[in-house]
Amino acid sequence: MKRRDLLGAAAALATGATTVAVLGGKPDNKTTQAVSTPGIPNIGKNRRQFRLVTSWPKDFPGLGIMANRLAEFVGTMTEGRIEIKVYSAGELVGATEVFDAVSTGAADMYHSAEYYWQGKAKGFSFFTAVPMGMTATEISGWVNFGGGQELWDKLSGRFNLKPFHAGNTGHQMGGWFKKEINSLEDFKGLKMRIPGIGGEVVRRLGGAAVRLSGGEIYQALQSGAIDAAEWVGPWNDYAFGLYREAPYYYGPGFQEPGAAIGLGVNLDVWNSLSPNDQVIFKAACHMVNDLSIGEYTHENGKALEILKREHNIIPRTFPDDVLEKIGRTSEAVVAEIGNSNAETRAIYDSYLKARNSYRTWTEISDGAYIAARTAALK
Ligand code: CA
Repeated sequence: MKRRDLLGAAAALATGATTVAVLGGKPDNKTTQAVSTPGIPNIGKNRRQFRLVTSWPKDFPGLGIMANRLAEFVGTMTEGRIEIKVYSAGELVGATEVFDAVSTGAADMYHSAEYYWQGKAKGFSFFTAVPMGMTATEISGWVNFGGGQELWDKLSGRFNLKPFHAGNTGHQMGGWFKKEINSLEDFKGLKMRIPGIGGEVVRRLGGAAVRLSGGEIYQALQSGAIDAAEWVGPWNDYAFGLYREAPYYYGPGFQEPGAAIGLGVNLDVWNSLSPNDQVIFKAACHMVNDLSIGEYTHENGKALEILKREHNIIPRTFPDDVLEKIGRTSEAVVAEIGNSNAETRAIYDSYLKARNSYRTWTEISDGAYIAARTAALK
């Protein structure tokens, strides 16, 4: 954890302690406020308040808004009976401390990306995104219908958590480069901001993977500390101004073909909810997930138009031989991780079975249709 995160967390913890003291610290003592809330019926002790800690800056476009929406939907669907307070990264705990906070009960739920927890269990990566893995619609197929949720429940259950998907960024981009990528040679010695398993793929191509948080990327490109960086896609990338320092924009985002965002609920909290409230939580997660896919599509389209029209950015596709090598390397790296132990292997086997089952359908439906539309509209 960085020093400023520590400081932020300490300050926020102090504030949190005050809040708990004011409210009395026990769930039953929190009921008094509900009685006097205009428009909300007197529902007494059924009223609950939960702390949702996130890995995102406050109201961050896309990711932060997903968490806000989840709180809003649950609040509205329970007519204010369940109130979720959203904390941005560093407000209560740091961005990467949300897992432990919820696991131990210091907070009630987190909104984050499961691949941040690969240091705790390698299997978590498969529930966000892996290189050459599933798209947003495919991972929904696996988790909701292909046995993914059951494996995820088992994995997270080991940490006293109940997990759900609550958001997806859709396809990401390969990244911003200071120089053109014409061959595999261009990856040799390339210093690129790319986290996780994608970073390992870049290392095996001869580059150096650098870990930086989103807010640090622009400065690192500007100072020359890095030669390239991936972040998300046109919407979030444009907001950081990455095009100004590294004008060659390559896709596709082999490293994150549809990053699924997770909600982790403390298992004791989850088990304390009535079946009705559990369905409300699930419904809110699905609503957030669905809206995020639409929102990323809409906003990415808009941002790309601006990048092209006002900043002369021409999105490019990695050369075929580069993509082929990236693909083969990705498969090898993911297989190594997937086979690292019995728990991860069970998840990897299920994931791979689903991806290989869906890929033919995706190729002859989405893939073929997009190719046909592209040709027709040339
Ligand atoms: Ca990314």
